[in-house]
Amino acid sequence: MTADKQNPGERLLKTSTLWQLLEARVRLSSTAIMLIDADRGLKLTFAQAHNIAERLAAGFLASGIAPGSVVTWQLPTGLTAVMTALALSRLGCVQNPVIHLYGEHELKSVLARSQSAFLLVPGAVSERDYAAAAGRVCAQLEQPPVVLVMDGELPQGKPSTLPPPPQDGASVRWVYYTSGTTSEPKGARHTDETLMIGGRNLATAMAVTSHDIGTIAFPYAHIGGAMYTCMLLASGMSAVLLGRFVPTEACAAFQRYRVTTTGGSTAHYEALLMEQRRQPDTQLLPDLKLLCGGGAPKPPELYFAIRRELHCGLTHNYGMTEVPLVSAGTPQDSDEQLAHTDGMPVQDVEVIIVTLDGDIAEPGQEGEIRLRGKGVFKGYTDTALNAEAFDQNGYFRTGDLGMLRADGRLVLTGRLKDVIIRKGENISAREIEELLYSHPRVANVAVIGLPDAQRGERVCAVIEAAPGEAPLSFDEMVAFFNAAGVMRQKIPEQLEIMEQLPRNQTLNKILKHKLRELFAAGH
Ligand code: AMP
Repeated sequence: MTADKQNPGERLLKTSTLWQLLEARVRLSSTAIMLIDADRGLKLTFAQAHNIAERLAAGFLASGIAPGSVVTWQLPTGLTAVMTALALSRLGCVQNPVIHLYGEHELKSVLARSQSAFLLVPGAVSERDYAAAAGRVCAQLEQPPVVLVMDGELPQGKPSTLPPPPQDGASVRWVYYTSGTTSEPKGARHTDETLMIGGRNLATAMAVTSHDIGTIAFPYAHIGGAMYTCMLLASGMSAVLLGRFVPTEACAAFQRYRVTTTGGSTAHYEALLMEQRRQPDTQLLPDLKLLCGGGAPKPPELYFAIRRELHCGLTHNYGMTEVPLVSAGTPQDSDEQLAHTDGMPVQDVEVIIVTLDGDIAEPGQEGEIRLRGKGVFKGYTDTALNAEAFDQNGYFRTGDLGMLRADGRLVLTGRLKDVIIRKGENISAREIEELLYSHPRVANVAVIGLPDAQRGERVCAVIEAAPGEAPLSFDEMVAFFNAAGVMRQKIPEQLEIMEQLPRNQTLNKILKHKLRELFAAGH
């Protein structure tokens, strides 16, 4: 992954559609390994993946799924999920991946919006009977989809029965419902092109080669799953698939398959660091060169701890369901850039920062991050949302706050909704979180604004104590801020300790709206 190990002769493949990308990869490296299913100990080459996906597409066709059909699939990370995504791409369907951890409530709310003709689910996985749950959900829908259970023998047919593959990479073929950090799910429409731009940009930023072995250890139905698949196909690298991320099991699999790069999100970095700390005298993952991920803030301290203790690089990135990759760090960046920024804006995504007064920000000035370009999604399925979502110049309003530095790097500073307005003064939750995170007795922290009769909003810090450490007392917290010279108005006036902060199931992001509900009443 370092510059000297890169093979300059290797180029990233580029095609119009995802299926064409798979075919181009097979022509170039048919016998190279594409996927390793760690749970089953199975490996598939690019050619095998192509053949299986083609037969599966023919099986789907025989079951009534046709080009253009809207198909929801709720499958855990594994070969079946990847083959399903490729087979539906071969047919030219509109696929709607749903995180396998979603419950019946979330599945129903997606299906009620997606109007899917088909729902693909696994049979029973661990304790959970997906087929039974799908039956219960469908019974509540006015126009229920046909349910296909992807269990045992998968549908198969003769590739000769298939219509020609789609040629147009600019049609909407993917709908991703945002993962639930806000309450109402919104369907973000994507094309093969938008996802492949993400995958190619990720490969470029990470500087992967065909010798790299990565991982998909997060829910495959997240937009990161399709983006990672595009990266595998564009670069010729392989990936280890994990049905669930249990740190000790994940590390054993990463060692066994000599993984060179892994990640996902901040929670994954933290989990690997904890594993390393349990055996400080041996290098946990000797083949690992790079951790990479995004989706949540990454405190600078974590970057330096990873460098020091895991002896690998960490390139953090910024993306979202609507734009899978906006900016990304690369191994060539300096430690300062990697620790303190979210990397450079990627190709085909134009980033502007608009101040709260509506002006274009100067370098280093904070404002809302807005995006335009070929890497941006094609609007929401509910068209009524689009007038609000895009500004008059066609830029997507992310609702994230950030700044572009003079060196071109993007720094996320918070969420528009996350600005706490205390006595008319704007306070950045993120800034207070970063300070608290640097305290050795704090494992994780979320700072929220709570309604307050005198102040408009008051600042509340919610803390998970570091393992084996006594939780901070309120007075200790105040003393810590005072010692750091923080202005009095920013010091939280409420402290809550939780064993575990509430998180979403996709990338383990902290759910601040839950915290607001929980603590709004005060004490
Ligand atoms: P989702 O669409 O559920 O994947 O969430 C996307 C949101 O996650 C973004 O709009 C950001 O608010 C947040 N996010 C993504 N990447 C980062 C990052 N590097 N730092 C901070 N927040 C991030």
